[in-house]
Amino acid sequence: MKIAILGGGCVGLTTALAVQEEFRNHHLDVLAENFEQTTSHVAAGIFRVSPTFSGPTDSITRKWISDSYHYYEAICRSREASEAGVTSISGYIFANTSPESVKNDLMEKLVPIYRPVTDDEIELVGGNWKYGSFLSTLLTQPNQYLPWARNKLTASGAVLKKYSVKSLKELAKDYDLVINCTGLGSQSICQDRKLVPIKGQVIKVRAPWLKTFFYGEINTYIIPNGNGTATLGGIRDFECSDLTVCPYQAAAIRDRCERLVPSLKTAQLIEHKTGLRPHREGGVRVEAERIKDGLCSALVIHNYGHGGYGICTAPGTSKYAVELARDAHRSSAKL
Ligand SMILES: Cc1cc2nc3c(=O)[nH]c(=O)nc-3n(C[C@H](O)[C@H](O)[C@H](O)COP(=O)(O)OP(=O)(O)OC[C@H]3O[C@@H](n4cnc5c(N)ncnc54)[C@H](O)[C@@H]3O)c2cc1C
Repeated sequence: MKIAILGGGCVGLTTALAVQEEFRNHHLDVLAENFEQTTSHVAAGIFRVSPTFSGPTDSITRKWISDSYHYYEAICRSREASEAGVTSISGYIFANTSPESVKNDLMEKLVPIYRPVTDDEIELVGGNWKYGSFLSTLLTQPNQYLPWARNKLTASGAVLKKYSVKSLKELAKDYDLVINCTGLGSQSICQDRKLVPIKGQVIKVRAPWLKTFFYGEINTYIIPNGNGTATLGGIRDFECSDLTVCPYQAAAIRDRCERLVPSLKTAQLIEHKTGLRPHREGGVRVEAERIKDGLCSALVIHNYGHGGYGICTAPGTSKYAVELARDAHRSSAKL
């Protein structure tokens, strides 16, 4: 088979690695408009899936999350951990609205530690928090994981090409299997009106003393990146596709983060970043479709719409996408 993966973000590259494992002696191209500046590069990469994250059914959603966690856990335990940028990390979630805001059914069953905070721990941070949880999880730094994945792919024979796709049909004559991991690009490629951008904005600061992550309310988070820097967030602007850095939002993010962790007042600014989360109403789309262009036809598997959780959930949806491709390939081979 000739196989194309469309997209060079976390979902595309993770899917390409899964394809290489499953279809060993087939030709693999990874096609993307951009490999260096994607939404995936903006993410902090923490493995913390919201209870609202969804796939087609509850059991598939849980499997995606569990497969993803175990994928990163295996890298974290391997010799490749530091090159791939996968580490373990622990931290706190604080809230005032309700005790449920600091619970997470999807995560509690998966991570090694997820417990209520003690009274002493609540006193450690700024703010009069009523509820809190402490958990340990994994962190994947996209700036390391993405180049690591690209190197692994090319070392095993995949070809990475800069290419902008207007319509999936144009690939039918060159490829037997196409896996579409274009994130928000699928708005135009698939005319998918369920896909909407949710703008995010973060501040990267130097804070080498920070080893623990913190979440507060109003989308406030502080995540150490493992290299002496930290990501301060954030915002969630629904249906906003303007990538301009908003100075008012930046000031508000900094203020909220400094109230939560006052030592951040001395943290030196590195840069501001924005990105558009590919949010899909109804959940992530992982499904098969056959496309035709005249006499040519190709199997397309879609794998997009991961919203604010594409770094942590990419391995699970990619594994599922490749299983759909394998089953379709086996049944067509039997005909
Ligand atoms: C501020 C912020 C913080 C975040 N923090 C986290 C976090 O801590 N943990 C987490 O799990 N997630 C986080 N996310 C979400 C995460 O970044 C996304 O879910 C993830 O990056 C989506 O990956 P993707 O590969 O689908 O899309 P992208 O990374 O956007 O990649 C899409 C790829 O498709 C290509 N493409 C698009 N259209 C075309 C076309 N027509 N032709 C060819 N190529 C095309 C692009 O060039 C690109 O290579 C965050 C997001 C933001 C904005």
